[in-house]
Amino acid sequence: MSIVIVPKHDKLGEGFSTKEKLKAMEHPGRQTNPMFGYQSPAFWIDDLCELKKIIVLCKVCRVHWNHRKHGYRKMFVPDTSGRSDGYQANGWCDACKQFTANMGGGTAYVSEEEYSKVCIDPVVARRNARAAWKEKPIYDIIVK
Ligand SMILES: [Zn+2]
Repeated sequence: MSIVIVPKHDKLGEGFSTKEKLKAMEHPGRQTNPMFGYQSPAFWIDDLCELKKIIVLCKVCRVHWNHRKHGYRKMFVPDTSGRSDGYQANGWCDACKQFTANMGGGTAYVSEEEYSKVCIDPVVARRNARAAWKEKPIYDIIVK
């Protein structure tokens, strides 16, 4: 017996579309189907903690998890546009599997060991921004 994989929306023999290939490359996240071994949100987050992975949580789920207790910090990316405070990171919530933009905004957490490799410290970012502002000639500020 041989198994033939047929693209979902295309005709037989046409192959997979780019969209379908990208969708197949996505990690499914935590297993919620009882047929294949259900994983609770707590189990899944604990698993990610042990592997020192980045954890994305929505506004509803992040109040249930103490990141300091597990050696994690909020991911900070300076936003020069000023639209966000720099702590906002949207994606699929690791606990409830909903898109965080629809759940009131998401936050990413990075382990303390990986923090310096991935993020800039907010205090350092603020100091750099103020130093750059002071270095800027007054003519540039008036014209632009
Ligand atoms: Zn959530």
